[in-house]
Amino acid sequence: MPNFCPRCFWLKLKLNNKLPYQIFPGIFSSIDSYTKQIVHGHFDCNSCFPQWLDGLGELAGYREPPHYSKFKIVDETSGVTLWGTPDGVFMKSDGSYVIVDYKTAKYTGTQDKLMPMYQVQLNAYAMIGEMCGIVKPVSDLALIYMEPVTHRDAAIDVSNYRDGGFAMEFTANIHRIELNTSVIPGLLAKTREIYELSQAPSSRDGCKECLLLDAMVDVVNRSGILEFRELADE
Ligand code: SF4
Repeated sequence: MPNFCPRCFWLKLKLNNKLPYQIFPGIFSSIDSYTKQIVHGHFDCNSCFPQWLDGLGELAGYREPPHYSKFKIVDETSGVTLWGTPDGVFMKSDGSYVIVDYKTAKYTGTQDKLMPMYQVQLNAYAMIGEMCGIVKPVSDLALIYMEPVTHRDAAIDVSNYRDGGFAMEFTANIHRIELNTSVIPGLLAKTREIYELSQAPSSRDGCKECLLLDAMVDVVNRSGILEFRELADE
C-alpha cells in the first residue's frame, strides 16, 4: 500500500491483529457470505452459474472454499505461516481453478485505494492453494464487486417494497487480478523483518493518529484535556 506504515504493522503483529478502536461493520461480511450462497445455490438448482459471472469464462463447477485451518502453508525462508479462506473457488473445464473474492462496494476499477492489498490477498490464496495442493493449478484470480443499486429510480420502484422492509438490488462487476505469486515471498520476508524489531519503528510522516495518541498520553500525564481537544479539532 502506498501509505504502508511499518509502525502500524508492527503493532498489529504484536497485538495479534487486535488494535483498539477498530470497528468493522459486520454487514459487509454478511452480504459477501450471502453472495456466495446465491452463486452456489444457483449452480445447485440450475447446473449453471448466474449470468453476471460470465466474465470469468466457462466454469464447470465450484468447490466449497477450504477452511483456513487447512488452507495454510509455512514459508520455509521466513518461517511465516500464511493462511486464509477465499470467498469463492471455481473449477474450469480444463481442471484449473479460479479464485475470487467478493467485495460489497462501489466499483471504481483501479481507483480502489485498497487494490494493492487485494492483489496480494488473492495471490496469497493462489500460493497457498498451489503449495498445499488443495486448489491446484490456479489459472485466474478476480475480485467481484457487488455494488448496491441506490439511485432514486430504485428507491421509488414498488417492486422493491416489502411489508416488513425493502429489497435492494446489487450489480456485479468483475475485476481481474494478475496472477503473480512471486510477490508474496518478499512480503513475507518483510513481515518477518518487522516482527523481529524489538521496538516499534517510527511513525509515518504526517499521520495524525499517532500525533493524537502522543497528545492523549501527554494530556493524561498532565491531567488536562484542553490541548488534546485543540489538536483533535484541527
Ligand atoms: S503513524 Fe499512523 S499508521 Fe503509523 S502507527 Fe501511527 S497511527 Fe498507525
